[in-house]
Amino acid sequence: MSKLPLPVFEELSHCTLCPRECGADRLNGEFGYCNSRAEISVSSICIHKGEEPVISGSKGICNVFFSHCNLQCIYCQNHDISRNSSQHTELPLEMVVSRICQMLDQTENIVGFVSPSHFIPQMIAIIQGIRQAGKNPVFVYNTNGYDKVETLQILEGYIDIYLPDFKYRDENIAFAYSQARDYPMAAAAALKEMYRQKGSSLIVNENGIAESGIIVRHLVLPGAVQNSLDVLQFIAEEISPKLQISLMSQYFPTHDVSKHPQLSRTIYKEEYQQIVDAFYDFGFYRGWVQELISHATYRPDFSNEQPFEL
Ligand code: SF4
Repeated sequence: MSKLPLPVFEELSHCTLCPRECGADRLNGEFGYCNSRAEISVSSICIHKGEEPVISGSKGICNVFFSHCNLQCIYCQNHDISRNSSQHTELPLEMVVSRICQMLDQTENIVGFVSPSHFIPQMIAIIQGIRQAGKNPVFVYNTNGYDKVETLQILEGYIDIYLPDFKYRDENIAFAYSQARDYPMAAAAALKEMYRQKGSSLIVNENGIAESGIIVRHLVLPGAVQNSLDVLQFIAEEISPKLQISLMSQYFPTHDVSKHPQLSRTIYKEEYQQIVDAFYDFGFYRGWVQELISHATYRPDFSNEQPFEL
């Protein structure tokens, strides 16, 4: 593939892409809260068979894991690559596009962008590069949910499937765990914008692989049952109980929170059961409810070229 110039992204000269709105001049080498410049920083491009079978299929998805993150949850399950203190792995655009294109044929023809909120213009350049290479995969936006409506509006026509987390309705927990008291408000507005673009239907092809729509993930945290109930209630009452929800029990305490008063354990069966019961009581009927033993799986090792078990 010939060299693709990285387009000049004017919006990065005073970056307000995400709700942090820290205004860093990333075009001129400044690092914002997300510790990222204009160059594309990617920690891993790999095949992943993730949590939802409509995205993974039998062959998996080509996931592009951007380095660093605009949220910095203290319990992050991908902390090796998402910590803003982790190393920079800046790659030329044509190398990223070329690696994705090489991998695509081994997957269900889906590309997932993981933690993309701080790399929106760069992600669009990657999508354009893939399309210029003659490929036409489904594109998944796999986000922590801390996105701005104006930024999501730019993605209309580029993104096929939104795969947002909805982590918190409790702003005190959002502040304590992610330094983002405005997360509940920002994530609510972001999900409403995704819903405006996609509605509640998940369109799947003849092989059962998703092609368009929204899947909302909620990771249940230990000691935070009310937060989870409030998240589900918000989605059911203010967006739609027809949305596909992926309820996840896979939380495990990383080293960083091994001594934290709430986060140093996995979730209790009684906690999870309350939330699963509420899931059905609120009228959700589409999606996935993980088994409680899931915390024993899904643990990536980003020191490997292939961080996930296939
Ligand atoms: S994307 Fe990064 S630089 Fe831009 S506003 Fe968010 S945290 Fe700041």
